[in-house]
Amino acid sequence: MSYYDCIIVGSGIAGLYTALLAKEQGSVLLVTKGKIDDCNTKFAQGGIAAAIGTNDSPELHFQDTIATGSGLCDEEVVRIMVDEAAGRIADLVNLGLPFDTLDGEVALALESAHSVPRILHAGGDATGKHIEVTLSNRVCSSGIEVLEGYLATKILVEQGEVRGVKALDCHTGSSRDFECRYLILATGGAGQLFKLTTNSEIATGDGVALAFRAGAEVVGMEFFQFHPTVLCLPGVIPFLISEVVRGEGGILRNAAGKRFMSEYAPQAELAPRDVMARSIACEMERTGENHVFLDATHLPSNVITTRFPQIYRFCLKHGLDITNELIPVASAAHYMIGGVKVNSWGETNLAGLFAAGEVANTGVHGANRLASNSLLEVLVFSKRIIEKMQKMDKPTAGSQRVEIYHSLKQRQPTWAVTPPNLSALQQLLWDEAGIIRSEEGLARAADTLAIWQRSLSLPIDRPSHELSNLILIGRLLIEAALLRQESRGTHFRSDFSRSLPEWRRHIVFTAE
Ligand SMILES: Cc1cc2nc3c(=O)[nH]c(=O)nc-3n(C[C@H](O)[C@H](O)[C@H](O)COP(=O)(O)OP(=O)(O)OC[C@H]3O[C@@H](n4cnc5c(N)ncnc54)[C@H](O)[C@@H]3O)c2cc1C
Repeated sequence: MSYYDCIIVGSGIAGLYTALLAKEQGSVLLVTKGKIDDCNTKFAQGGIAAAIGTNDSPELHFQDTIATGSGLCDEEVVRIMVDEAAGRIADLVNLGLPFDTLDGEVALALESAHSVPRILHAGGDATGKHIEVTLSNRVCSSGIEVLEGYLATKILVEQGEVRGVKALDCHTGSSRDFECRYLILATGGAGQLFKLTTNSEIATGDGVALAFRAGAEVVGMEFFQFHPTVLCLPGVIPFLISEVVRGEGGILRNAAGKRFMSEYAPQAELAPRDVMARSIACEMERTGENHVFLDATHLPSNVITTRFPQIYRFCLKHGLDITNELIPVASAAHYMIGGVKVNSWGETNLAGLFAAGEVANTGVHGANRLASNSLLEVLVFSKRIIEKMQKMDKPTAGSQRVEIYHSLKQRQPTWAVTPPNLSALQQLLWDEAGIIRSEEGLARAADTLAIWQRSLSLPIDRPSHELSNLILIGRLLIEAALLRQESRGTHFRSDFSRSLPEWRRHIVFTAE
């Protein structure tokens, strides 16, 4: 059996960045289930938030993050993130990331719910692609051992301590155990839970499922962010139309061509994402359409082609010239706010297990993520994981959050349902646990998922492992959404439409 100081699972920004830092400390293995560049990171468009502008400050960034998080952000970790932002941006520059500039200064864009322009970007709307290419080139040239096509299927634990990871070689179908001192999960989100999603096919919640089964705590699963504006053309994938299009002045119109967002929110098109997504859902229901329109036709053509080159080219390829045509858009699942519970050093409750990136819940986002804070969160807390490993003998303070603990409820549904499959699961979650939820729909979905979970045979290959993980993640999401009898941030219950003070706490799940 092979032994490493550190094994990292996943090759998005979290996996690649931690691998580069961990390499300075000892031997590193990076395993990833597809090719090294299969990840969500490369699709990030808007950019990375950091208070580096002259009219900005970490305090202002802190306030915007807290306001968006709807009462559930962990203030201590938000403070760490905004304070350490400039240092991590400097690290990216040193690694060779070509941030866009304007008149010799780093260019900063405005996104919704940020009070000033503070989004750094690269290649216009190709920020994620530049991050992925820059970091993966560095990893490949640094001598880090990378295993592509290896799916992590189990965290190996002995007496409460992580010993390594079991991984399936997706080409041969054989399994191998890898031992390590520290295991870092960097497996990303779970957008594949939903019928409409901006996420790539790798986003199947594997890390949360593996960690939960191994005994790690999972928190905040009821909070899943929906992106308000995703291209809605028949037969075309739900391609993201970045917030920055609205930041640059793009406006939303309904089927009759009428601008409507100011009827729903004072910030109109720059309202937080949850407000935008619900408003668009209501407007679509009111007009009986499956989309609204994003209008960028009044912007100068050169702004569109230089600031959003990817979006412009993608739409053009599908017959839509966005410099003079309206863009049909709807909302889609975008970001998993919940995840494996970690402290401000990325540590889970299992000794030796860390989590970084979208798989982790650091407490930064609370009940709603401020746009472009996630890439920053990855950088700040990945760096802290490696710092923590260096001083591992020192005890860490526990979580400051107010929490209630649950294990997954046993359900005994009696009716028969169709056998589990990915598209049925995605439709179920979209219908019953999407932008607007209710007790009735959630309970129905919870029962179905419990039946599906029991009926699954032992997974043998990548698709069956991923389906089993998604069903478990779906259960965690729905049980948390049922428990939270209020509306807050991204979690909206039509039967409990207000936020309640007694729910200013976190729902944590542990395996029995
Ligand atoms: C379209 C889109 C646009 C976005 N735009 C922005 C933006 O502008 N700004 C911002 O801050 N955030 C943005 N986000 C969110 C942000 O990009 C992600 O949260 C972030 O990139 C996640 O990085 P990660 O490294 O945690 O996960 P990912 O980049 O998703 O990488 C996960 C990796 O883990 C691997 N993996 C998963 N499971 C296993 C397993 N069982 N075994 C082995 N390997 C596994 C995957 O193959 C992949 O390599 C966007 C997201 C999307 C989808």
